[in-house]
Amino acid sequence: MTSALLPTYARCHLAFERGEGVWLTSTDGEKYLDFGSSIAVTSLGHAHPHLNRALIEQAQKLWITSNLFEIPEAEAFAKRLTEATFADLVFFQNSGAEAVELTIKMARKWNTANGAQDRFHMITFEGAFHGRTLATLAAGGNPKYLDGFGPRMPGFDTVPFGDLDAVKAAIGPQTGAILVEPIQGEGGVRVGAPEFIRGLRALCDEHKLLLCFDEVQSGIGRTGKFFAYELYGVAPDILASAKGIGGGFPLGAVLATAEAAKGMGLGTHGTTYGGNPLAMACGAAVLDVVLAPGFLDDVARKGLLLRQALAGLVGEHPDVIAEIRGEGLIQGLRLRVPNADFAAAARAEKLIVIPAAENVVRILPPLIVSDDEIREGVRRLGAACRHFEIPPAHGDKQGANT
Ligand SMILES: *Cc1c(COP(=O)(O)O)cnc(C)c1O
Repeated sequence: MTSALLPTYARCHLAFERGEGVWLTSTDGEKYLDFGSSIAVTSLGHAHPHLNRALIEQAQKLWITSNLFEIPEAEAFAKRLTEATFADLVFFQNSGAEAVELTIKMARKWNTANGAQDRFHMITFEGAFHGRTLATLAAGGNPKYLDGFGPRMPGFDTVPFGDLDAVKAAIGPQTGAILVEPIQGEGGVRVGAPEFIRGLRALCDEHKLLLCFDEVQSGIGRTGKFFAYELYGVAPDILASAKGIGGGFPLGAVLATAEAAKGMGLGTHGTTYGGNPLAMACGAAVLDVVLAPGFLDDVARKGLLLRQALAGLVGEHPDVIAEIRGEGLIQGLRLRVPNADFAAAARAEKLIVIPAAENVVRILPPLIVSDDEIREGVRRLGAACRHFEIPPAHGDKQGANT
């Protein structure tokens, strides 16, 4: 059968028709353990009752009115986000790329508001992923994604991730901001070192630059903190959120201090769908669960459990797994076998994991995963490892026994 979809994805031949919690049921009736969460999106798993109820109740009332009117649901949700974070102001969109796009625009406008429109450059990092619009691709700097789409938008100076000296050297008269994922997701679960992230904050303060965090993947409880910046004890000036924030409903948000947002006055930005009541109902329901007392501490605890179990796996399969890295419930396995082959082996064991750069597979279970489901997932990862290990020949085995 030929597909009518634009062929931009190498899809595996597997489709799902139902989901419940950490489990997905394929169209041929097989149950899979979902340790990908639709790429860090289904933060509360599939068909979470509180989220379903919120969506259905709102759907029966009102879907969308437009940003020409006040949206009480957006006011309330934005207020809760500011109360839980460093931010004073929020703007809602529908995706991560849109959130990062506004982050870039806001940083440029802040410099303009300071009378420094020349300072439109941002320092960005190798291995970053910020989305697929022309500006976010330029920020990400991945040549594979930029190829053939015309000149790369100017204003992004890319340096190696983790290299504070390279950042210092790249700061020039046109630099106005730094954009970084504190934990690179697509880049292969590369966790920014505390001295690196804190060093970026110090450099921004020293040179009067805005510090912008892309927490589209690392935010909303994934690391055991509401946002990953809390792990580092420094706050950004602007933060882009998406993925997990809607629990599966398309939703993005930019969080900013009043100072960073000061250029964004009347008419400077807009969106048709952003902040619609349906999305707000889903986002609010996610917050009800994630910000409930004890929930994030439990995510951190489960992150440690996962990490320990994965460490055991590395010990058992050193020829398959080279390294574990991550924080909380975003963990990466750097492999000695091709990551796409490993993800296929995991699927054969009815487990979903997500490939990333640097030959990593990401382990991103829903935040509501149970301890038993973590142990079962790691057991299946072990089974996937054995696909790559040659069983000892019969004669050898006998020899070893004597
Ligand atoms: C996924 C991702 C994006 C892009 O989000 P979309 O919703 O696909 O536009 C941006 N930044 C990071 C860190 C991401 O992981």
